[in-house]
Amino acid sequence: MKTLKDLNFKNKKTLIRVDFNVPLNDALQVTDNTRIQAAKPTIEKILNDGGSVILMSHLGRPKGKDDKFSLRHIVPEVEKVLGRKVRFVDDCTGEKVKKAVAGLKPGEVLLLENLRFYPGEKQGDENFAKALADIGADYYINDAFGTAHRAHASTAVIARFFDKEHKAPGLLLEKEITSIRKALDEGQKPVTAIIGGAKVSSKIGVIENLLNKVDNLIIVGGMTFTFLKALGNKTGNSLVEDDKLELAKRILEEAKAKGVKIILPVDVVIADKFSNDAQTKIVDAQNIPDGWQGLDIGPETRKLIDKIIQNSKTIIWNGPAGVFEFDNFAKGTEQIGLSIGKASGNGAYSLVGGGDSVAAVKKLRLTDKISYISTGGGALLEMLEGKKLPGIAALSE
Ligand code: AMP
Repeated sequence: MKTLKDLNFKNKKTLIRVDFNVPLNDALQVTDNTRIQAAKPTIEKILNDGGSVILMSHLGRPKGKDDKFSLRHIVPEVEKVLGRKVRFVDDCTGEKVKKAVAGLKPGEVLLLENLRFYPGEKQGDENFAKALADIGADYYINDAFGTAHRAHASTAVIARFFDKEHKAPGLLLEKEITSIRKALDEGQKPVTAIIGGAKVSSKIGVIENLLNKVDNLIIVGGMTFTFLKALGNKTGNSLVEDDKLELAKRILEEAKAKGVKIILPVDVVIADKFSNDAQTKIVDAQNIPDGWQGLDIGPETRKLIDKIIQNSKTIIWNGPAGVFEFDNFAKGTEQIGLSIGKASGNGAYSLVGGGDSVAAVKKLRLTDKISYISTGGGALLEMLEGKKLPGIAALSE
C-alpha cells in the first residue's frame, strides 16, 4: 500500500474521503470540530505539496436529501480550522461537480454535498462509486477511519477505480492502523486489555481475538455479570445475558488453555435501582443480593486493576467499567483512565478507543498522557476483532 509520502500531489487534484460527521446544534453550527481537526494534517500536506483537494463526507443519517444535513452548514467551521476559503458544491457527482473540480487551482479546497443524500453511498453501489471516481480527481485518499469498516461507495468501492499508484490512506488512517497494530500485534509484554461496556454479545469478537494477543484480560462493566453468573455466583438484578452463559464459560476455559489471565471484579458498587440517586452498597462480587444491581466496580477491584496496569508495558482500553453517565457510578471508569495515564507516563504504550472511554479520558484531561486515542468506534472494534476493514483493504487491492 502506498502512503501519502510516496505520492506527488503537485498540480494534481485529490479526492479525500474524510469523516466530517460532526455534531450540530439547533442553529446548525458545529459544536465539536475534533473530526475536522483530525483530517487537517492530510489536507494541509496535500495543499502544501502544491495540490488541490476535494473533500467528501457523510453527515448524520438523512433519509434522502434533507437540508438539515447539508454539508453547507459546516463550511464556516472547516474554513476556520483550515484557515482558508472552502468552496462548496451542492452535489457529489455529475456535471456541476466536474465543472467545480475542473476549476480548482493548487491550494484550493472544494467540499462536496453529504454523500448519504444518495442511497448508492450506503449500498456500496458501483455506479455511484464510479460517478464519484469520475469527477476529475487524480488521486483517491481515504482518511475516514470512523467509516473504514463499512463497504460504502466512498469508503471502499471507489478505490477500485484508482490503481495502486493513485490511492492511499490519509495520515489519520495511517496513524490509526500503525497505532492499533503497535498495541495489538507488536505490543511489548506484558500486554493488558481492559474491556468494558454493557454486553458480552457486542464485544465477543474482540474478547476472542484478544485471547490470542494479551497476557491479561480485564473484564469490567455490565458484561461482568454474565461471567460472574456463569461461574455460579449470585448476580441479583444485575445486567445478565442468560443466553450467553455457556459462551462466557467457554471464554474462561479458552483463556485458561491459552495462558491468558482473566480478571473479573472482586467487589462491586450495587444500587437498589438504575438511577444516580439510588441507594448504594459495596459488596463482594460473588454475592449480589436480590433486588440490587451492580453498576460499577468496587474499591478493591480498582486497586487490583491499577496494579496490573502499572505492571504492563502495553495497555488497550475499550468500554466503561460502570454506568459512568451517572456520577455516582463513574469512579471505576475514571480510575482506569487515571491508571492508564500514570502507566503511560512511566513508559507503557497505551491505546484507548470507543466513545465512552475517550470521553472519560477527556474529562480527566488525560488526553496528552495516552499514547494513542483512536477516533473510531465500530472501526476500532473490528480492528480489535482482527477483521480486515474494507476501507483499508481496498487501498491495496
Ligand atoms: P458499550 O456501548 O457496549 O461499550 O456499553 C456502554 C454502556 O455500558 C454505557 O452506557 C454504560 O452505562 C453501560 N454499562 C456499564 N456498566 C454497566 C453496568 N454495570 N450495568 C449496566 N450498564 C452498564
